[in-house]
Amino acid sequence: MKEGRKLVYTPRTGYLYGKLAIGCIQCMLGGKIVIFITGLCSDNCWYCPVSRSKFGRDIVFVDENRVNNLYDIVDEAYKIRALGAGITGGDPVIVADRTCNVISMLKQEFGEKFHIHLYTSGRFIDRNKIESLVSCGLDEIRFHTYTLELLKKVELAREYSSIKVGIEVPFIPLRQYIDYLKQLLKIVDETKLVDFVNINEFEVSESNIEKVLLYGLKPRGLTVEDTSSYLPSFFKWVTANIKNVDFHFCTLWYKDSIQYRYRMLRKSIEMLGVHEVLTREGTLISIVAEKKLGNKEGLSKHFIVIDEEFYINPYKTWLLKGSGIRAIVREYYPEGNILNQRNIIY
Ligand code: SF4
Repeated sequence: MKEGRKLVYTPRTGYLYGKLAIGCIQCMLGGKIVIFITGLCSDNCWYCPVSRSKFGRDIVFVDENRVNNLYDIVDEAYKIRALGAGITGGDPVIVADRTCNVISMLKQEFGEKFHIHLYTSGRFIDRNKIESLVSCGLDEIRFHTYTLELLKKVELAREYSSIKVGIEVPFIPLRQYIDYLKQLLKIVDETKLVDFVNINEFEVSESNIEKVLLYGLKPRGLTVEDTSSYLPSFFKWVTANIKNVDFHFCTLWYKDSIQYRYRMLRKSIEMLGVHEVLTREGTLISIVAEKKLGNKEGLSKHFIVIDEEFYINPYKTWLLKGSGIRAIVREYYPEGNILNQRNIIY
C-alpha cells in the first residue's frame, strides 16, 4: 500500500496521485513520436476520437505525417531527437507483425533505452501476441478496457515482468460510465493488476460529436463542460479508494497545448537553419528578399543564398531599414506548412 500520497495538480502533469509512468514523462518532454500503426479496429466505441478519414483503413502515420516506408518513422524520430515512441491506432495488435517490426527497428536504431509504449483494447491479445510484443522489446502496454471482460487480457500481460502494464481510458462525465470506471479502478487496485491508471479528459472530435450530443453532453472547445461537475467527487473517491496503483488524470489542454508544442519545438530546434529563427510556439520564421538586393553598398554580404533565394537572418533586418528592399516574411511549421505570410518593404 502506498501511504501518505496526495493528489497534486500542476499544469504540466495534470492531476497526479502517485508517480507518472515513464511513457508519460517522455510525452511531457515532447520526446515521443506518435505512431498510428493502423486504422483497423474491430471495436466500435462511441467515444472513439480517431478521425473518420483514418478509422477502419490500414494506413500508417507518424506524428500526423503519412508513412510510405517504415523508415520514415526512424527519420521522424531523428527529427525530434525522440526519447521514445507511442504506438496507437486502431488496434496495433491487429497488425502485430508490423508493430513488432517497427519496435525492433526502433530498438535497433536507437538502442534498448528507447522507450516504447502501445495502446490496445486488448480484444486481440493472446499468449502468442503478448509474447512476441515482449520479445521484440515493448516496454509498456496500456489497455483501454471498455468492459470488465477485457481484464482477462490484462492478466495475460501482467505475467511478463519486463513490461509495465497500465489502464488508459477516457473520463466521460456520465453517471453510468463513472460507476463503471470506479468498478474498474477498484478491481485493478485491489488485485494490483496494473502499475498505473491514466484517465484522459474526454475529447470531442468530428467522429464522436453526434453521439456526444445524443448523450446530452455539452461540448466546450475540444472537450465537454460537464466534466467539471463530476471531477471533484471523482477525485475524492480516488483518494479514498485507490491504495496501490499510480493514478494520473491527463488534461486535454496539456495534451494539446504543451505536449504537441514541445514536440514541435524539439523538431524545429533540430531542423533550424542559419536563415531561420525559432518562435516560442515552436514555429520557424524566415525572411526572403526579392532578387534585387537594393543599391546600398555591402548589403549583399548579409544575405544567405539557398536554392537561389536570398534570405536574411531575421535578427539582422535592421540592416535593411530604408533600403527599399521588398521581402516576404514567412512563419511555418518545421515540416514546411506555412502558417502566416506577409510582404514587407524595408
Ligand atoms: S478500441 Fe480504440 S480505436 Fe477502436 S473504436 Fe475503441 S477507442 Fe476507437
